[in-house]
Amino acid sequence: MKSLKERDQAVNWHPYTQMKTAAAAIGIVRGEGVFLYDEDGKRYIDAVSSWWVTLHGHAHPYIAQRVSEQLNTLEQVIFAGFTHEPAIQLSENLLAILPENQKRVFYSDNGSTAIEVALKMCLQYWNNKGQSRRKILAFKDAYHGDTFGAMSVSGRSVWTNPFEEQLFDVVFIDAPTTANLKEIQQQIDVIANEVGCFIYEPLVQGSAGMLMHDAESLSALMDYCRQRDILLIQDEVFTGFGRTGKLFAVDYLTAVPDLMCFSKGLTGGTLPMGITTCTAVIYQAFYSDDQHKALFHGHSFTANPLACSAALASLELLLLPTTQAAIERITQKHRVFAKSIAMHPKVEGVRQLGTILALNWKTEHLGSYFSEIRGKLYDFFLNNGVLLRPLGNVLYILPPYCIEDAELDEIYRLILQALEEL
Ligand SMILES: *Cc1c(COP(=O)(O)O)cnc(C)c1O
Repeated sequence: MKSLKERDQAVNWHPYTQMKTAAAAIGIVRGEGVFLYDEDGKRYIDAVSSWWVTLHGHAHPYIAQRVSEQLNTLEQVIFAGFTHEPAIQLSENLLAILPENQKRVFYSDNGSTAIEVALKMCLQYWNNKGQSRRKILAFKDAYHGDTFGAMSVSGRSVWTNPFEEQLFDVVFIDAPTTANLKEIQQQIDVIANEVGCFIYEPLVQGSAGMLMHDAESLSALMDYCRQRDILLIQDEVFTGFGRTGKLFAVDYLTAVPDLMCFSKGLTGGTLPMGITTCTAVIYQAFYSDDQHKALFHGHSFTANPLACSAALASLELLLLPTTQAAIERITQKHRVFAKSIAMHPKVEGVRQLGTILALNWKTEHLGSYFSEIRGKLYDFFLNNGVLLRPLGNVLYILPPYCIEDAELDEIYRLILQALEEL
């Protein structure tokens, strides 16, 4: 019998992977809680929540039960002209925990599509109102996904180089600090009347290397944009659902966005789904007797009932006092560990927000995604039964909330060991 590894190598093409030089993919046969088990019976602690999606652990029995019930009731139905209980309930439950101004829910399939929808809502909003505000603001190191619109509003990098000519123009600004806020505002001032929207990852820029900015500066920048009628798209695809220690990054801010994007933890990491929410004002710009003012967007699986029921179950779990206590416990433990290694000669820039802990491994080739230390660290942790996936020289942990102290301690211990040995 051929192994999963061997069969995979013959037919599959993996994401973000140079297939020639990468090691063969590890065949995973089972997940339970914070653990993944490979075909040889080896166990891994999933310390990155399987690319930032898993909230309550793998194969969570309650989510499985709810999805299974839904599977036997209604697996899928066209969402144009039709609706269903899970989509209605999920919209009600989600809006109830978002800022008061979020009034409408638009479903799609993943984080990138949630971004595409938000961008199209903003562009068509101004179009429907007969105003030409075509410019878009984004952060320099932004990451909003891999489809063309999402790539366009992401920072230019080795990832986007091959597509450069096909990406639309975006005005890039620095992430705000108390020091550069004035400068950013001056940059925007010159073009403010032409800017339709500003899209940003709030507080933590994940893919850029877990870069963090402070809530006061971001709130100030948002207020500033709002005063100039620039629509605010808050990309909470990564930061949503407890990651930052609060339910949403917006809960740290004094300003509120016009649109919000969600995916990743939305279904607890069980099924793919994206959501874009918006204010009544945006919705009203499309609400008309004129057919041409409708939002021209949809996907075959829009509001898939199975994904909705997974999201409903995951939200229920997330709001349990025990889960909130677990998030707080992880936050506290991260804080203690962060403090203990902050002064280590081999690390710098130790930073933390809620369940996200990140640090820079000091190397000669700072910041490169392809830096040599990345591979060494990745292999070291895998060999020791922990899945960590550094972004270049940035090592980060963001575990599922079901992780126990013993597993967290094991990850911390291995980081200390890596600091000794690598
Ligand atoms: C992952 C991510 C996306 C894209 O989501 P996909 O589901 O991978 O398409 C968008 N924005 C942010 C902030 C992300 O971290």
